[in-house]
Amino acid sequence: MQQTTFQLNSENYHSNEANQHYMSVSQFKSAMECEAKTLAEVKGEFTRPPSTALMVGSYLHAAFESDEVFADFKEQNHQSIYNNRGNKYKDYEKADDMIETIKNDEFCMFALQGEKEVIYTGELFGVEWKIKIDNINHDRGFFSDLKSTQELRKRYWSEKYNTWVSFVQAFDYVLQMWVYREIIFQNTGRYYDPYIVAVTKETPPDKAVLHFDTTRFDFEKEYVQTMLPSIIEAKLGYKTPHRCDKCEYCRATKKLEGTFEIEYLLD
Ligand SMILES: [Zn+2]
Repeated sequence: MQQTTFQLNSENYHSNEANQHYMSVSQFKSAMECEAKTLAEVKGEFTRPPSTALMVGSYLHAAFESDEVFADFKEQNHQSIYNNRGNKYKDYEKADDMIETIKNDEFCMFALQGEKEVIYTGELFGVEWKIKIDNINHDRGFFSDLKSTQELRKRYWSEKYNTWVSFVQAFDYVLQMWVYREIIFQNTGRYYDPYIVAVTKETPPDKAVLHFDTTRFDFEKEYVQTMLPSIIEAKLGYKTPHRCDKCEYCRATKKLEGTFEIEYLLD
């Protein structure tokens, strides 16, 4: 994993080999949920069943990458997007509504101007990371990521922050922005400003362009520094990966060894 012989590109970016060699924000977030599931996935021993939410997310991103990419995406995923009568499934009709909302807003479109799907690698706490940026604008020194969410102001309870938080913290987007900002800095020598272009699944969709107070990043840096060693030790085979005992991988591979008191059901 620490060898630098791997040639990362857009074809192999999401491959098991790339994930074995590099840490990424999604691998880190997944390992925070369950190390055992994440490492089984990285080794190719477990494949997450395809989810509609993930597909719709890719559909949204493809729409803003380029007309060509979007057309290709629709063609390759025709079965998932269209029913037998050639109409789009409800989730994709909703996604079209969200796409229109963003396209009709000049400010949103301004925040999405730049190079798409740019790959960088870098090093954080002695570990090699890979990132793929939705959109980066070198002229103006910013990068942005399109995120869909239920409602802009919905509250989520967070164990990580030990308080109520917005969807941005709940889905670890602050952590993502911190990692991206650092890796971009290592590649360009400049700290870029991160933005989230948020669009909601409401009818009609709501929208916002969000920026970050940079003091938020200190916490994320410390969090990654604290949590990363355990993942890396498990990844290198120095320790048994921690099992969450709740996810689909853990349920599918669980072997009972005893009873537990009912108190622990609500852990
Ligand atoms: Zn698990």
